[in-house]
Amino acid sequence: MKTTEEKPKTDPPGAQKINWGDFRDHLSTADQQGNRMWLYPKKPKGRYYLTRLYFSFVLIVVMFAGPFVKIQGNPLLMINIVERKFSVLGVIFWPQDNLIFAFGALMFLTGIAVFTAAFGRLWCGWTCPQTVMMEMFFRRLEYFIEGDAHAQRELDKAPWSANKLFKKLTKHTVFLGLSFVIGNTLLAYIIGIEQLEHIITDDPSGHLTGLFFMCLFTLIFYSIFARFREQACTFICPYGRFQSTLLDENSIVVAYDYKRGEKRGTLKREQTSDERKAAGAGDCIDCHQCVSVCPTGIDIRNGTQMECVNCTACIDACDDVMTKIKKPLGLIRLASLNGIERGERIRVTPRIIGYCVVLTLLGLGLVTLLVTRKDMDTTLLRVSGGLFQTSAGGKINNLYLVKFTNKTRRDMPLELKLENMDGTLEVTGGHSFVPAEKQIETSVLVQIDPAKLSAGTTPLVVGVYSEGKKIDTLKTVFIGPRK
Ligand code: SF4
Ligand code: SF4
Repeated sequence: MKTTEEKPKTDPPGAQKINWGDFRDHLSTADQQGNRMWLYPKKPKGRYYLTRLYFSFVLIVVMFAGPFVKIQGNPLLMINIVERKFSVLGVIFWPQDNLIFAFGALMFLTGIAVFTAAFGRLWCGWTCPQTVMMEMFFRRLEYFIEGDAHAQRELDKAPWSANKLFKKLTKHTVFLGLSFVIGNTLLAYIIGIEQLEHIITDDPSGHLTGLFFMCLFTLIFYSIFARFREQACTFICPYGRFQSTLLDENSIVVAYDYKRGEKRGTLKREQTSDERKAAGAGDCIDCHQCVSVCPTGIDIRNGTQMECVNCTACIDACDDVMTKIKKPLGLIRLASLNGIERGERIRVTPRIIGYCVVLTLLGLGLVTLLVTRKDMDTTLLRVSGGLFQTSAGGKINNLYLVKFTNKTRRDMPLELKLENMDGTLEVTGGHSFVPAEKQIETSVLVQIDPAKLSAGTTPLVVGVYSEGKKIDTLKTVFIGPRK
């Protein structure tokens, strides 16, 4: 394992010339041979970290409660891909609600664009489940078991001993256990808590697929939190990659006030503040505290960078230094580029107003769709392959398949009627009602006197009634003999 102190000095033969002095030319976590440099971020402390800790606690409770908390019998949040059934705030949505999903997805994307344009990548550092779990669970456990950054570095460098083995085993066992809990929670989001309970309590041989995914999710989370870590944000996350297209000089980001900080230089004991000022030195004492707490290993003094997740740990670290050297706080702070360069106040730009208008329109569209959402979705299809049959009495029979989706929280009685023809309609599947928030499929036999059929194919209109009220009209065709 390479550490940040083990930088090779030469480029590999044939490698493209890289300026290792320029942070833009290389990753902060890769050495000159392209090997990963393991990060040992110092444990952050300060007002931002404390706020983030409380905020994360609320988020973690919500994340774990999502599939378990029920509202009128339905989960707070469930994304059941297997049954194509989704629950949001206890309301069940089906694939038939595709327009609602489309509006919801567009609102989500526009919301991200607005949020990023206004507040940079604050989502990443403060609310993203990956960061919240990494920094508030796994990293804190690591500090607890192995100690702070220096102790971790020393432990990794030290030869294997009983103490090292004990600490490493404890850490990875705890990480694996926690990954198992997170993996199972994700599974509960996908298949629902009842199915998960069956997988855990039933005979394992009956749930091999479920057990496979249980193990897979556990291993994926363990790999991410134990090894992959900040690379998930830098290399994998698409949001991190396109954020640069959403930011502008008015976006609020974690920024170093280079006007105040430069020219940076170490603090000399014998030098007074005035002497330091006279020598052209700024407030940055080049102590590297902001770098040593950074979970992505960057130096924010180089400017806004792709790797920065706006976790604000460097703000706390620098504020601590400023307090000690009796300088005003906020050398690193949440500010826009215009705020740092020209002292401009935070302002709402036309771009953000435009995004907000789009967001509002989408929101109105979504509300309209939700308000006008039908209680029952019905589809009627002719049974494939079947033409028609002639009954003993000479009537023509057509068989149909009908699918009902009850989106309400009550059982709905059903009645189907032929609307445009004389004839009989029989629900042969024997269903007289659709249970609350369930889908049922049944067959329907329509029988018509051939004298009433005008041609080989006759349009057929079927009305769907519940408690005497017409709730839907279905159109199909009735096939009879050619005349
Ligand atoms: S530069 Fe600061 S805000 Fe950005 S990731 Fe590093 S510590 Fe967090
Ligand atoms: S913590 Fe503050 S003073 Fe220290 S190097 Fe970073 S910006 Fe400069």
